[in-house]
Order: sequence, then structure tokens, then C-alpha cells
Amino acid sequence: MPDSTLTATSLSSRTGRVPVVVLPGDGIGPEVVRATRRIVDAAGARIDWHEAEAGAASFAKGVAIGVSQEVLDLVARIGVVLKGPLETPVGFGGKSVNVTLRNLFEMFGNVRPVKEIPGIATPFSGRGVDMIVVRENVEDLYAGIEHMQTPGVAQSLKLVTQKGCDRIIRLAFEVAKSEGRKRVTVVTKANIMKLSEGLMKRRFEAIAPEYPGIAADHLIVDNAAHQMVIRPEKLDVLVTTNLFGDILSDLAAGLVGGLGVAPSANIGERVSMFEAVHGSAPDIAGKNIANPTAMLLAATMMLRHVGQAAEAQAVERALFAVLKAGKTLTGDLAGRAGVKPSSTSAFADAVIAALDPVSPDVAAKATALAVPKVDPSPVAGTPKSRQVVGIDVFVEGVGPAEKLGPAMEAAAQGTGFTLKMISNRGAQVYPATAPLEDVVDHWRCRVLGPAQDDAKVAALLAKVSAVRPWMHLEKLQDFDGAPAYSKAQGEA
Ligand code: NAP
Repeated sequence: MPDSTLTATSLSSRTGRVPVVVLPGDGIGPEVVRATRRIVDAAGARIDWHEAEAGAASFAKGVAIGVSQEVLDLVARIGVVLKGPLETPVGFGGKSVNVTLRNLFEMFGNVRPVKEIPGIATPFSGRGVDMIVVRENVEDLYAGIEHMQTPGVAQSLKLVTQKGCDRIIRLAFEVAKSEGRKRVTVVTKANIMKLSEGLMKRRFEAIAPEYPGIAADHLIVDNAAHQMVIRPEKLDVLVTTNLFGDILSDLAAGLVGGLGVAPSANIGERVSMFEAVHGSAPDIAGKNIANPTAMLLAATMMLRHVGQAAEAQAVERALFAVLKAGKTLTGDLAGRAGVKPSSTSAFADAVIAALDPVSPDVAAKATALAVPKVDPSPVAGTPKSRQVVGIDVFVEGVGPAEKLGPAMEAAAQGTGFTLKMISNRGAQVYPATAPLEDVVDHWRCRVLGPAQDDAKVAALLAKVSAVRPWMHLEKLQDFDGAPAYSKAQGEA
């Protein structure tokens, strides 16, 4: 373990070398990380590796979260991590250490460059695919706030915040700036989720003018998936919310050869972590046959991040030369190229042999990624006026709507509230707008009235409970005179 007073900044300014925590990880991790370190060192990168343990070995020692406090402290101090894949027990046992690290260090941005790789033939080869997907990494449906509403109805809260949108949008523009890109496209489903996805789109439109040299536009997510396949070469930098980013970034990786050759960076204000997209591939672990390409490309992202762009370019050029030559390839690629498979270490030797001296021009031209500062205030976007105008009470029961409606109207009588409508799975069913027979036992009753008064709400809920059990309540608010809630389908 290093001297605990050392930080990345103090160490690099003292020695000109940059400290990096390296977590070799599980399965094929140690093999591909070893190959990567050898190549990075051979390219002349000035890195001091601080090797530490996380994942299966830590779980086996009884470390409940799969990474010890000592290693967390080291990561916090040094701030840059190169990480091998970490195994996640499926359906039982410990939580994903990957997600734990991302969340504990608030690595809010996942950056995935997707560029055609010479020598790796795909149906898209020759099209010039070269895009970067910037995915929000901590919010959205991945906040994991879920409740069974009734035994047959599950609910997952999709949380999208102005603060979260602002920092991922700014990160996308900063990535575009540092990579010399021309356009950032925000990808949303704002046409349907006007508040949550709409917030992302609105914040994008507010922030884009801060970056006048970069074009900004919007794609609806389904069309974005379509464009990625039809005209992938037209896409430049994409920024999107967590779930869409998860799916689209894998789709994008598939365009250039798949997860086995895809790198990614998890960017935070204090800690950034670089890794291959693939997992620990236990079936081929320990055989010295895994392909280190994705890990090596992740290391080139790390080198650029720590200001060693010339070394990153040297590594990339040597890697691409070996892949293009097609003579020394690991088993996953050798068959397609019709050559005998080479080992992981032989592949690394070939990349080292192909290294040219670093070009100082590259370093001079490189623009470091400026990670946007996170606004420390938990509050964003305070409206001038806000008013509570009613509540949505969610109740359980078999219906039908034409019985539930009058019962709820009767329950509301004398409470100061009036029933506006009832919806089932988002569509108004009372008063009926269209015959809707396919309903579930989960009804939203929208009542308007003095919901700013908790005592009146409590009195209403007591009367509602006599009709049907309620399990969920939402306040209806107007911000600056405009409804801050969505209407049901068919609601006037
Ligand atoms: P995986 O480890 O990516 O492996 C899937 C298959 O892809 C492997 O069986 C292997 O296929 C091939 N492959 C992956 N990387 C390769 C490489 N570098 N070289 C050659 N072939 C490679 O996916 P998984 O089997 O779903 O996940 C295994 C474990 O990894 C799980 O515990 C999962 O939770 C974890 N995981 C971790 C991360 C992370 O740390 N970020 C990401 C994903 C998954 P062949 O069978 O053709 O050899």
C-alpha cells in the first residue's frame, strides 16, 4: 500500500508520473490487465500502478461489499482506476462491485467510444462508424426504487433530476470539445415521458448554447436505434438517460465488433474508472487466450484522461497495426481471419513490437477532458410560485370503473375534494371515454381540492379506505401556474 498522504495530484507533480489504482478483477481480468500494463509501460507511459483487490477474492475473505475499506480509501485518494471485469453473483449473494464503485464515487457519466477497428470485419466495416455514447450512470430507473403495488402490479420509479441532467449534458459537450467533435445529439423519449425525459431535453436545449462551436440536436430513442443501424456514420456524440444509454451503447458496440473490443470510462468529479465492457468470461479464464483489446483501449482512454495523449496514440496505433496485419490474433478473432490463434501474451508481445516512438505533437494538440463540477446544492430550478391543487390516490380493487367512480365521488363528499377522473394503467376509465375492458386491480383516483392541508388529506384517505385500500399517494402541484404532473390518456 502506498503512503496514505499521497494523492494523484501531489504524486504526479512530484514525480511526473501518475498514480493509478489497478484492480485486476476476476476470471480473465488478471490476464488482460497484465497484458495491458506491459504494453502501456512499453509505450513509455508515466504510470505508477497501485495494484489492489476487489471482487470474488474479497467476497471469499468475507468482505461484504466485495471491496475493502482500505481499497476504497486508496481509490478515493488516487482518483484514477483501471479495472478488470468483476464477477457478479446472479440472483443471490453480494451486490455488483462494479455498481458499488460507480455509486460510492458518484461516477455519473459512462463514456463509450465506438469506432471501427481496423482488421475487425463487421457488416458495417468501411462505413466510418465513429461515435461516442455518453450515458447517465446513476439515476433514472437504475435508482432501483421499486414497490409491488398489488400482488400483480409492480412499480419502478424513474427519477430524472435537473442536477443529473445538467452534469451529464455538460460532460457530453466537454467530451465533444476534448475529442474535437462537431455535434452532440440528445436522445430521449420526451414525446411520451414529457416530464422525466422532457427534463433531459429541456436542460439540453438550455445548456447547448454554452457550447457555440458544437451543433446540438435531438433524436427520439426509437429513431436513434434505427439511425444507428441505418446511418451509423452520421452519428457523432450521443447523450442519454441511464436505461436508453445502457441499451444503445451495447447496440453501438455491436456495430464495430461487439463487447469483446469495446472500452468504457466511468467519469466522476473525484474518481474516474476505466474498464472493458466485457465481463470475466469464466469459461476461458486462466488459459492465456483472452483478447486484451477492450482493456487496452480502456487504458488508452485512461492515458488521455491523465494527460498522456501521445502515449495513448502510440498504443492505439500499434494495436490497430497488429489487428490490421491479421497474423497474431487471439482465438476469438483468429478463426474468422483464418490464422492459428495466438495467446494473450503473444498478442501483447506483437503490440509491443509494433510500438513506434511517441509523437510530441499529439500531446501539444490534445485537449484534456474538463469534468463538469457538480452543483453541491440539492435544489435546482426553484419556481416563483407553487400550489398544491389535489392528489392522485392509487387504490386496489377489481373494479369495475362504473362502480368505483360513484363510490369515490361519495367518499369525497364533504371533504372539500372532488373526483376528477379515474385511470387504469394510465388511461382514463371514469368518466368513461372509450370502452376499456382490459384493466388491472390498480386504479388512480385524481381528486382536486385542498391537498395543501394534511388534515384534510388524512380525512379524505380515511373515507377512501372505507371504499378500497389505497397504497400510494402523489401530490398534484402547479409550478408557476402550469401543471407539474401528467394527464391520463383521454383526460380533458
Ligand atoms: P462475459 O464475461 O463478457 O463473457 C461472455 C463471452 O464473451 C465469453 O464467454 C467469451 O465467449 C466472450 N468474451 C468476453 N470477453 C472476451 C475476451 N476479452 N476475449 C475473448 N472472448 C471474450 O459475459 P458473462 O458471461 O455474461 O459474464 C461473466 C461475469 O462477468 C458475470 O459474473 C458478470 O456479472 C461479469 N461482468 C462484469 C462486468 C464488469 O466488470 N464491468 C461486465 C459484464 C459482466 P466464448 O465463450 O466465445 O469464449
